Amino acid sequence: MHIEFPADLQKVVAFHGHVCPGIAIGYRLAKAALAALGYQSPDEGDLVTIAESDRCTVDPFQIVLGCTLGKGRLYINNTGKQAFTVGCRKSGRAVRVIQRPYNYTPENDALTRKVLAGEASEAEYQRYRAEREARIREILTMPDAELLTVEQVAAELPGKEMIFNSPCCEFCGEQVMEPWTRLREGKVACIRCAIAVVR
Ligand SMILES: [Zn+2]
Ligand SMILES: [Zn+2]
Repeated sequence: MHIEFPADLQKVVAFHGHVCPGIAIGYRLAKAALAALGYQSPDEGDLVTIAESDRCTVDPFQIVLGCTLGKGRLYINNTGKQAFTVGCRKSGRAVRVIQRPYNYTPENDALTRKVLAGEASEAEYQRYRAEREARIREILTMPDAELLTVEQVAAELPGKEMIFNSPCCEFCGEQVMEPWTRLREGKVACIRCAIAVVR
């Protein structure tokens, strides 16, 4: 069965490169965080996300909330949990959203492993596709209370990106931002050149 995705979720799919349960969960978590902060749109707040996962679930936070890595609005503090703290730099308020425990059945797990190993028959592959699509539909339609938990937290939000001087490494000549420079024989070195000596 075809699932009709909202426009912002379609953008996530285009960015992420595939449709998977992970982006569906991340999408629901990002939307729940936005609502819990009292915003209709991410433009209303100066948002920053601290992600406890670096898997599929993180991408909706980049697209739906505009918390991209390059803009200094995404920090990865990997604890292996599907949990994300979203804070507003303007108000200082923050919420932490986390997926409620969910486990695939052992049969489903075994099938996924078979597909990933390239050992599934055509019929098994079709079953895998159908089950995956059903799970995605379930995630997208499930009530918030069943899918996730939201908590108000007092988070120390990372500050805005700073501007740094960028001297050239005196060994390789490449430019490097000051906080990442080292000294080698009393000269400014990039980390690669400084470590080359240690090896
Ligand atoms: Zn994915
Ligand atoms: Zn260098």
